[in-house]
Amino acid sequence: MLTALGGGVGAAKFLEGLSNVIGNEQLNVIVNTGDDIKLGGLNISPDVDTIIYRLSGVVDRKKGWGLEGDTFNFLNSLKRFGLETWFNIGDQDIATHIYRTHLKSKGFSATQIASRIAKAFGLADNISVLPMTDHDVETWIQTNEGEMHFQEYLVKKKMKPEVCRVTVRDIDQASAAPGVVDSIENARAIIVCPSNPIISIGPILQVKGIRDALKKTKAQVIAISPLVGGVPLKGPADRLMRGLGLEVSSAQIARLYSEFLDTMVIDLEDAHENQAIVDLGLKTLVVDTVMSDKEKASILASSVLELI
Ligand code: GDP
Repeated sequence: MLTALGGGVGAAKFLEGLSNVIGNEQLNVIVNTGDDIKLGGLNISPDVDTIIYRLSGVVDRKKGWGLEGDTFNFLNSLKRFGLETWFNIGDQDIATHIYRTHLKSKGFSATQIASRIAKAFGLADNISVLPMTDHDVETWIQTNEGEMHFQEYLVKKKMKPEVCRVTVRDIDQASAAPGVVDSIENARAIIVCPSNPIISIGPILQVKGIRDALKKTKAQVIAISPLVGGVPLKGPADRLMRGLGLEVSSAQIARLYSEFLDTMVIDLEDAHENQAIVDLGLKTLVVDTVMSDKEKASILASSVLELI
């Protein structure tokens, strides 16, 4: 059994490659739910859906999220009522959010809902998508323009405000969802996907029980840097790290994970950071980590598996 920790798009790309090269081995993916948001009465869980869509082959590959071939008539119709329409919800995608909201109103947990959505999309039986916690949490960003939900910062404000702090609301009450700690304790290896270390992996590590399980597990822990040439390929990882007073580098990400990490995988373009990571007492692998297509993601996944 392999276990992975991840957010949305970057994680999903890597996991697609990994799922191609592991045959029938069980893969448990512990997914960030700090990005979850309630909009127009709908419960939306972007990272969980992105992983399920990608691993069941229905994702919009160009965007990296949403469903391939989806249209946006519903969203355009909402504009008529003067409602906020900055969060992109496609016409087919909305069915997922309505289903999630319906199940949640009936008392189903995030874990049970993710499992049902995965089944409906035909996700392979050997892959389990595990939300990090069944408690409702939300990542909020303090900026020079005030405090806002992470999605508002990312999508509505297009990452323009300056970041001062990141807080995961209600994380103190959040314990690991069923199966999460077991997956860490009993895995053959644990892979931290190339995901945003602050708002994707960060919230997962703050859930009660997860960091301790990672420190205690006998399994090797391998992380893949989401930075290439010292910058993220997409998204605000650099802005968030800088805003929190952190150096923007793969070595810094290795430092954030160093309590439980064995090996850091970095891109060829960041080879000059190798020594700084070795000096932390970690092993390194320096390879091409740019997953421009499924084949490249599979090659990266194979190189990671060879470390185990
Ligand atoms: P989000 O929740 O959708 O933002 O997704 P993640 O946190 O999982 O992924 C965002 C990160 O993935 C960004 O920091 C990107 O730099 C990283 N990423 C995306 N594609 C690639 C890739 O091909 N290679 C590497 N190394 N990182 C990638």
